[in-house]
Amino acid sequence: MATTHPRSLNDASISMVGPFDEDELAGHLEEASIPAVLMALYQLTGDHKWLEEPYAPLPPPPEAAEDDWDHGGLSPERQAEVRGAALEALIAWSQGTPPAVPAPQGDVLTEMMSVCVSETIDPQYSPMMATHLGFDDSEDPHPTGPIPDGFSCLVIGAGISGLAMAYRLQIAGIPFRVLERGAEVGGVWRDNVYPGAGVDTANELYSFTFFPRDWSMHYAKRDEMMTYLKEFTDHYDLRRYIEFGSTVVEARYDEDRQIWKVRYTDSEGTEHTAEASALVTAMGIFAEPKIPPIQGLSTFEGPLFHSSQWPEGLDYAGKRLAVVGTGASAMQIVPATADQAESVTVFQRTPSWIKPSAKYFERVSDSYHWLANHVPYYRAWMKFRMAWRGYDRVFSSLWIDPDWDRPDESINARNHALRDNLLKHIRSYLSDRSDLLGKVTPRYPVYGKRLLLDNGWYGALKKPNVELLDEAVVEILPHGLRTESGVERDADIVIMATGFQTTHYLGPTRIHGRGGVELHEFWGDENALAYLGLMTPGYPNLFYTYGPNSQGTGGSFTASAEQQSRFIVQMISKMIDDGIGAVEPKRDLFEEYNATIDEKLESSIWAHPNVTTYYKNRHGRIVIVRPWSMVEFWHMQRTPRMDDYVVEPARRPS
Ligand SMILES: Cc1cc2nc3c(=O)[nH]c(=O)nc-3n(C[C@H](O)[C@H](O)[C@H](O)COP(=O)(O)OP(=O)(O)OC[C@H]3O[C@@H](n4cnc5c(N)ncnc54)[C@H](O)[C@@H]3O)c2cc1C
Repeated sequence: MATTHPRSLNDASISMVGPFDEDELAGHLEEASIPAVLMALYQLTGDHKWLEEPYAPLPPPPEAAEDDWDHGGLSPERQAEVRGAALEALIAWSQGTPPAVPAPQGDVLTEMMSVCVSETIDPQYSPMMATHLGFDDSEDPHPTGPIPDGFSCLVIGAGISGLAMAYRLQIAGIPFRVLERGAEVGGVWRDNVYPGAGVDTANELYSFTFFPRDWSMHYAKRDEMMTYLKEFTDHYDLRRYIEFGSTVVEARYDEDRQIWKVRYTDSEGTEHTAEASALVTAMGIFAEPKIPPIQGLSTFEGPLFHSSQWPEGLDYAGKRLAVVGTGASAMQIVPATADQAESVTVFQRTPSWIKPSAKYFERVSDSYHWLANHVPYYRAWMKFRMAWRGYDRVFSSLWIDPDWDRPDESINARNHALRDNLLKHIRSYLSDRSDLLGKVTPRYPVYGKRLLLDNGWYGALKKPNVELLDEAVVEILPHGLRTESGVERDADIVIMATGFQTTHYLGPTRIHGRGGVELHEFWGDENALAYLGLMTPGYPNLFYTYGPNSQGTGGSFTASAEQQSRFIVQMISKMIDDGIGAVEPKRDLFEEYNATIDEKLESSIWAHPNVTTYYKNRHGRIVIVRPWSMVEFWHMQRTPRMDDYVVEPARRPS
């Protein structure tokens, strides 16, 4: 049955270590964000005045960098008053006074969030944020009755999604195993070891709600991300469920026995079969590299490899590097290698929009760590302030305004304002390099592709040993590369930062559902389809994480993984409690749902003619992203509505 664990972000992160050293506490409060302190103060005391004038933070003026609005616009005297009151309340708390509002929800949470960021927040965000901030005090999903003999679940993959599944299944007490083809957990973070590899979502958000960490940087590098995922795995003792070196080749649904038969090979190539009542794919969409079929690929005489297959110990110092592609990986590789390499030639097909980030290179301060670990709710509110900037704020800029009069550049007024801001950022770096300005300015509207963070990209392009060629590579030569206009550059090492086979959901793994129909055949070419991104009719008890049309524009993937794993464990718990042997979405609903997706996405930014993106399959259908805001999708996936599904009673003794 369910095991106990720290239920919320706050329980997990606050160590009550007896009386505070008052001077130390006062010193750290000097560095604290006033809006977050106000929220903690309200939770500790229950005194509503901290949410009202004259304490409520003021909205930042448009020109103020949001990262720097930690004083909340309060005068130094008011800030001192808030800090003084916080000191008093924290000392009282450390001496045993319980918090007055430990888990704000509903209207109270909506009001607090609105005050914290000085804007009116719709009440529909309240339940979602209660979950993300650790204020949701409802139980983790789990079966209430006994688990039938032989019932088990099988998860494919041990990246963030597979680990989120393992965590939840373990808590729910549902028997399971995880098959992972690699030798370690971590998925993309295990594989992508190229120089400069790191996150582009602030780590306070890109980490599990139930396992916060004192990140060294606001945006961690790959090694720290791997340390985090390994520590998570070991903390919850999840390794014992994972069989490494196990590659799933095929799964077949046995309609009579209502089970999945899974065929996999171990690291020696020996074939095995496993059986499971429920099958969860946690195979990601960035697991299979994509290398375009450029002529002469095999003729290159030096190392040539995909960015996710960086050779261990590769010595690139003093070498001529060729980087093909200018997506997220190239953007990290070029600034990280330019100082050591003799030269770096970048071959660009499409430039990316890049937004500045004041905190990208910053270490997290000791005070932040201290406050996050000692002041209850502080971390949660800091997390909220970061989250709010990225979540649905951009959503309205993603939809084509049919009356918009500058359709070549942008799609609506808000989208155009973003473009103007990002153009200013480009010019602030490159006004003295007219040769680069034109090349780096994207020809598609902002958000048509994933918006990248500036990690020193423009600065790197200006280095004397870095060259940007704005052309596709058409041929690889034994010692170099040739572009479509015939420009040739010599290279010692070629790095194919050319992306992943994102639209080939589930890669080469074959999944046969009812009637033996293979899933890719049911879908059609690169055309994965699901209901709520989670299930497909004809494939009972098969659940996807990172499924078709499930990706959002803002936010962090860990939040999606938590949400999807929660839904899946809710559904599996229902199967157990209600004696369900097979569950799958109703076909008409599934069809209607996907027709709605296509219809809505027709007026989205990704349908803009200048947008080429890994969100679209080769026939132009958008298969990766969804047309719903983060909060809409959260509510859609919050809990299974059993009327939407066809269920078959279990043919096993229950
Ligand atoms: C370089 C890079 C940086 C990124 N940065 C961010 C970021 O900053 N913020 C963000 O939100 N997202 C980011 N992403 C997106 C990222 O994919 C998700 O955040 C997340 O890591 C996906 O986790 P996952 O478990 O779903 O998939 P993956 O991490 O891809 O894990 C899938 C696992 O399944 C295994 N597997 C696949 N097929 C089989 C099989 N047949 N049998 C057995 N095992 C199999 C793989 O070996 C792998 O371990 C980034 C992606 C990349 C590539």
